[in-house]
Amino acid sequence: MRKRVIAGNWKMNKTLTEATQFLDEVVKSIPADEKVEAIVCAPFPHLATLVEKTKGTNLKISAQNMHFEDNGAFTGEVSPVMLKDLGVSHVVIGHSERREYFAETDETVNKKTHAAFNHGLTPIVCVGETLEQREANETMSLVETQVKKALEGLTNDQVAQTIIAYEPVWAIGTGKTASNEDANEVCAHIRNVVKSLTDEATAEAVVIQYGGSVKPSNVDELLAQSDIDGALVGGASLEADSFLQLVEAGT
Ligand code: PEP
Repeated sequence: MRKRVIAGNWKMNKTLTEATQFLDEVVKSIPADEKVEAIVCAPFPHLATLVEKTKGTNLKISAQNMHFEDNGAFTGEVSPVMLKDLGVSHVVIGHSERREYFAETDETVNKKTHAAFNHGLTPIVCVGETLEQREANETMSLVETQVKKALEGLTNDQVAQTIIAYEPVWAIGTGKTASNEDANEVCAHIRNVVKSLTDEATAEAVVIQYGGSVKPSNVDELLAQSDIDGALVGGASLEADSFLQLVEAGT
């Protein structure tokens, strides 16, 4: 039985004061249920404080990006070594906003995924098609390429630990959600792609999230789908109440 993973992606939102207030509101109510993992993906400057505040709880702290090198002349970047040292457990890799605005490519996603495992961080690898690609019937082939490239060179064990987030770009921050059936169809396809790269046990183990305008009112039906194991949530993760409802839906 795969665990459910509910991750809130705050993007470039919240001051440190707002972030700590949020944690003060939610941390006591995060269920101590092994079947659900709750994660907050916070801006870099807040990570150390949030890791400290969540010690001993079932709420994990993730970065939203990182560089793939350990250190060096990369002004403005943050390395996996730094994240690990802070006690961060997860890192989002290849979010569509990073692909669109910050020149993230399948190649850098692959390098970052390897770097995450090299430093004991769990990668949340984002894939998904644009509206144009969906309308051109390219969703399945595009997502397949993104998944294959992202996972290239990983061991089966590492693939099994990777969280893959299927996020149709047209559904992110737009209020438009993929239908349950469409979302599940793509997630099932991703699981098949993983199987073709590895084996049945690995494909059955890998956690696949859906992301794109998930909110408390639609999360139950999405999580009820056979191949959707969790959600990566932007807007609806910013309010404590709403985030808790999403996590509760995973229990
Ligand atoms: C996201 O940021 O990954 C996301 C899915 O955002 P939203 O839930 O706001 O669509």
